[in-house]
Amino acid sequence: MPTYDLIIKNVRIVTDIAIKEADIYVKDGKISSIGFLEARPAADVVIDGNGMLALPGLVDTHVHFREPGMVQKEDFETGTKGAAAGGTTTVLDMPTTRPVVSTPDIFREKLKVVAKKAVVDFGLYGAAGIENLHQLDELARVGAAAFKTYTVSPPAERMNEYKGAVIRNAGELLNVIERSSSTGLVHCIHAEEDSIVQYLSGKLQSLGRKDAEAHCESRPNIAEALAVHQAVGIAEMIGAKLHLLHISTREAVQIIRSAKARGVRVTAETCPHYLYFTKEDMQRLGAYGKYNPPARSHEDIIALWEGLRDGTIDAIVSDHAPHAREEKDAGREDIWRAPPGTPGVETRLPLVLARAYGWSLDIHDITRLCSKNPAKIYGLGWRKGELAEGFDADITIIDPDVTWRIKSSELQTKAKDTVIFDQMKVKGQVNYTIVRGRVVYERGVGFERPGVGMFLPGKASDSDIKA
Ligand SMILES: [Zn+2]
Repeated sequence: MPTYDLIIKNVRIVTDIAIKEADIYVKDGKISSIGFLEARPAADVVIDGNGMLALPGLVDTHVHFREPGMVQKEDFETGTKGAAAGGTTTVLDMPTTRPVVSTPDIFREKLKVVAKKAVVDFGLYGAAGIENLHQLDELARVGAAAFKTYTVSPPAERMNEYKGAVIRNAGELLNVIERSSSTGLVHCIHAEEDSIVQYLSGKLQSLGRKDAEAHCESRPNIAEALAVHQAVGIAEMIGAKLHLLHISTREAVQIIRSAKARGVRVTAETCPHYLYFTKEDMQRLGAYGKYNPPARSHEDIIALWEGLRDGTIDAIVSDHAPHAREEKDAGREDIWRAPPGTPGVETRLPLVLARAYGWSLDIHDITRLCSKNPAKIYGLGWRKGELAEGFDADITIIDPDVTWRIKSSELQTKAKDTVIFDQMKVKGQVNYTIVRGRVVYERGVGFERPGVGMFLPGKASDSDIKA
């Protein structure tokens, strides 16, 4: 009779298609078996799940934890603690730190700094732009999870957060994607057409517009649609594998739907803020509601949920992008002065649970969108994103029926004061977050020590994602 490291008793396990009552047996960080063993084996730790739901640990492949370089906004410890408290067991951190992760040396330096602080498992993106084309192979070799490219230019004063991650036109995008595709890593695109955004921003500013809604008007649906169309076209032409970040418009959903029907190798994600807020909320949210792409309309929200339902959009991720309150408040009188982005790593699951059922998605869809698909898109689907024997014992135990209100003061992020979901009524409470068999968060108790999170080097992605 083997001794286990952990046994979770009395839980209802959520798989792709069913909910089954069983015990989970964990050995050496992996799920050893699921079921009921006849003899009660021994274990170092036994958790009584009290009939709660066990989900595959959530995977958030789009976070900005701001380290190194901007730790006044967030750092890897507060970021990964927020992830753990929200039931997320794996995060992938974007390369737009200071310096931008555009070379293997910078990648190694960042890894050294953040590894000591991680409470959950993590991977790191590499930036891909024209300036660092010759570094992409080496970035893949040192373990980049994926590549990220912006098709839209950053504000002039933040160029050092983006340098090496921006392309200026379709030819440059083709060049970068051609170069990255030989690495086997997925290439992620922030898709907004820069020339539209530049033109409209200039025009609105010259008219004296400084209100929050002007931000949305400067980045209309067509800006996303044009850039998505272009990226999809390039992927189709050269057979590259692209992932489209934070999709927000009905036009983009339509383009991606038909591309997938033609067999183009694209995947797509959206975020809770696009499923909750519209341009009309900007008056109330002000600069805290400024993010890129911006809040849209109710018609777009409908299209996004339809896209999630039919498999056009593969994942819901947070795009957790915190800023210090002073920075956001600089946009109170003049929206152009506030940086874009909003915190969200800790609130993703309860926000999705609160709304998804109303849009005819069930708990299996939620698990697919928040755990399985994000893992698969990034080549982690062989070990993360599912509760099955042989997989990493990444397990989130929730009480799905509790309704509660988000209190931003209780969140882990350093950007507590800017949380746009504050006071929102949500559903589902995370009681335990378990990473490779280790409890990293227990409700009412706290967190494991920083440094227990493991680095996940990138690898060529699994076979194409299916809904
Ligand atoms: Zn982002």
